Amino acid sequence: MSVRTRYAPSPTGFLHVGGLRTALYNYLFARKEGGQFILRIEDTDQTRKVDGAVDNLLDAFAWIEIPFDEGPHIGGDTGPYIQSERLDLYRAHIKILAESGHAYPCFCSSERLEKMRDSQVAQSIPPMYDRQCRAVTTAESSARIDRGEPHVWRMAIPDSREVTVKDLIRGEVRFDAATIDDQVLLKSDGYPTYHLANVVDDHHMQISHVIRGEEWLPSTPKHILLYEFLGWEAPVFAHLPLLLNPDRSKMSKRSGDVAVEEYRKKGFLPQALINFVALLGWHPQGEREIFSLEDLVHEFSLDRVNKAGAVFDLAKLQWMNSEYIKAESDDNLIEHVRPLVSDLIQTHGSSRVELAILTLRAGAETYLTLSEKIHDLFAPSPIRNPELMAGLCDDKVVLVVGEVGRRLAGVEERDWEDFEKIGNTYKEFASEAGRAYSLKGKSLWMPLRIAMTGREHGPELAKLVGIWGRDRVLGELEKTLKYLKHQVLR
Ligand code: GLU
Repeated sequence: MSVRTRYAPSPTGFLHVGGLRTALYNYLFARKEGGQFILRIEDTDQTRKVDGAVDNLLDAFAWIEIPFDEGPHIGGDTGPYIQSERLDLYRAHIKILAESGHAYPCFCSSERLEKMRDSQVAQSIPPMYDRQCRAVTTAESSARIDRGEPHVWRMAIPDSREVTVKDLIRGEVRFDAATIDDQVLLKSDGYPTYHLANVVDDHHMQISHVIRGEEWLPSTPKHILLYEFLGWEAPVFAHLPLLLNPDRSKMSKRSGDVAVEEYRKKGFLPQALINFVALLGWHPQGEREIFSLEDLVHEFSLDRVNKAGAVFDLAKLQWMNSEYIKAESDDNLIEHVRPLVSDLIQTHGSSRVELAILTLRAGAETYLTLSEKIHDLFAPSPIRNPELMAGLCDDKVVLVVGEVGRRLAGVEERDWEDFEKIGNTYKEFASEAGRAYSLKGKSLWMPLRIAMTGREHGPELAKLVGIWGRDRVLGELEKTLKYLKHQVLR
């Protein structure tokens, strides 16, 4: 059997992380098995349709670099790939189901259905259609349809029998047909419901494996019956565990940041997001956690997907993203971060800002936090803090700072443009001055850092002199010396 999987979203908004996981597992499985991966748009609920949703979705997949083999944007042999363009096919299957007695028209008004539902709820019994229209004879229903009476088509669920879902992840799950509602298959507007369209399409698109979220498991017995009624072989099913918030509540489209687009805006790398999402429910062999998409194709298997819900741990995603930022080539990193610091590039020039990008990359969780750190570095230094400055009120320190400042002021302007050279020169001056006044190690570098930045933490000073350049470095040292003199004279 050739493997064909599909991702079948409804175009109701943005791609969210749960959808990304479903798509990813379908993609990985298909690739691993040498099969195909198909995109199908399930837009049969016209009331929930959102303009632009398909474009958003395709954009997200283009960014994340997961390609489809067939889909509305690229075509294929089993299209069209948008359900609203396949309505005739669904109606034809209603006819087949009606002829074999597996579907029947229902003329019940929405008022009647609502009343029935309310009374069932009041009696605490699960709301289900009472099958009144199943008793209408074919002759009568044809006449009523011919008269133009509004109706839907329902599935005639057998009264009593067991329906078994064989699921690759969950094993055998049994359902009692008595608990299954006579599902509407075709609505009064002539559109199919999800259930009919999904089954008809999976069959006609020759889908071999249906890999989808656990929330669809209760629908699966209906689907299995439809396959049976139509005389088709059902695909293999695999229902993925729920995604959970850290408090183990169900993660829904509405909870927090779940849109892939948000992660993109915040400066996560698509590779990191894929890596993270792959591990939401699937566990590889061994302790390894960092996987490229290619590695994942190689390692992935459905039998290592857990049944238990998978907790979405943002801190882990941030850690993973920082690992990807660390590993990115300098050129790529610069290309990705430049748009976020274009204001700084305008004022300070490319080369200083690029040096800042490379210097501050370590530990940055996202491109956005990296850009914030860079902005912070170019922002004016804080007003000198008396507590920190107190540590510099030492004769030797004042002399060293003065000496380093004087010697740096003597360096030719063009030598400041060679960042590595000025960095080394700075280190040399500082060590020499330190030696002259017997200061070394932390007792040399910490005062120098505070003198130059007004802070205790920051990037390596030899880098900072390159990033800031002559005017700022000399200006900062002078600012500190002035402050110290003022303190001493007071
Ligand atoms: N259209 C459904 C969704 O929005 C597809 C479910 C399935 O994969 O069968 O997720």
